[in-house]
Amino acid sequence: MLKDIGSMSEEELKEEMASVGEPAYRAGQIYKWLQSGVKSFDEMTNVSKKLREKLVENYYISFATIEKKLISAYDDTRKYLLSFPDGEAVESVLMKYHHGYTSCISTQVGCKMGCTFCATGKSGFSRNLTPSEMLSQLRAEQEDADIRISNIVLMGMGEPLDNYENVLRFLRLVSSENGMNIGMRHISLSTCGVVPRIYDLAEEKLQLTLSVSLHAPNDRIRSRTMPINRKYGIDELLKACRYYIDHTGRRISFEYAMIDGVNDSDACASELASRLRGMICHVNLIPVNTVGGTGYKKSRMDRIRSFISVLEKAGITATVRRTLGSDINASCGQLKRAYKKEEKTE
Ligand code: SAH
Ligand code: SF4
Repeated sequence: MLKDIGSMSEEELKEEMASVGEPAYRAGQIYKWLQSGVKSFDEMTNVSKKLREKLVENYYISFATIEKKLISAYDDTRKYLLSFPDGEAVESVLMKYHHGYTSCISTQVGCKMGCTFCATGKSGFSRNLTPSEMLSQLRAEQEDADIRISNIVLMGMGEPLDNYENVLRFLRLVSSENGMNIGMRHISLSTCGVVPRIYDLAEEKLQLTLSVSLHAPNDRIRSRTMPINRKYGIDELLKACRYYIDHTGRRISFEYAMIDGVNDSDACASELASRLRGMICHVNLIPVNTVGGTGYKKSRMDRIRSFISVLEKAGITATVRRTLGSDINASCGQLKRAYKKEEKTE
């Protein structure tokens, strides 16, 4: 079976080269080519034809193909549906901020977690993405938009901590000096709360930003909207978050999708504030994106303002996340669902 060469670290590549009788410096050359986004071994012009043939026999290079692209008329946000050779497809979104370009990439094809407000959660799970498939999303976007990405958020399709080893490997590759060299401080990882993996991640002491999708102040509401909460309840989750903050010295960002009449009352805000008291954290409020069939509606703006003021009075900082690309359904999972429907009606 061919091996996924784009998911190997420079060190591993050195070992691979040694095993096929090649000198170690070859690994450095090949690693740089791979990280620069070549799609075939033939593009590696400083590698001998003989070695290129050897590579073709033993390895494959994964890449993503743009199946569909939507560009927002408001703010140039670009949303892509990217496919892999096995026919699976994921979404990635490229956003322009004043400090540069941020890419929101997927970590799995679908998701097992089944959150009731989420388009990805509704479409079920197909498979994990490999580290090289995560990198290839960034490369496809950079090439298409002719820009350099400076920030990454793992907030596309999938639960990053349910694909822990591959995500960690991706983080190391993307931040490596001879790779895209995007520092951990420019990366955010969002999780629905896979508690054991939060402890594991704390041990890695990475400088990335951990976002925790909380979306409810108590187990009653959270278990209804996020099935993972039936396994790891809020107390357990917040205990892991405290451990993470203590261990890494990094503050956590809590995501909270505001759903009309479900989790947006002032009582919910004060319950949330009392739970988060004393934690180094920030709350990001997001008016929920309406996904067909859920019956959920966005909270009204005055409700959101009132929610923020309760949090702030309790000393918790909160902001409403700017929604980019609202005309192109930039929140993940929605493009793929629309695309599938189109395919069916053809
Ligand atoms: N699985 C991870 C990361 C991907 S989802 C997680 O759940 O954190 C990225 C973010 O989008 C999460 O905060 C998720 O809760 C949120 N999200 C999903 N569906 C949404 C919707 N319809 N409206 C607003 N936010 C949503
Ligand atoms: Fe999965 Fe995150 Fe969607 Fe929940 S919100 S179903 S964890 S992608």
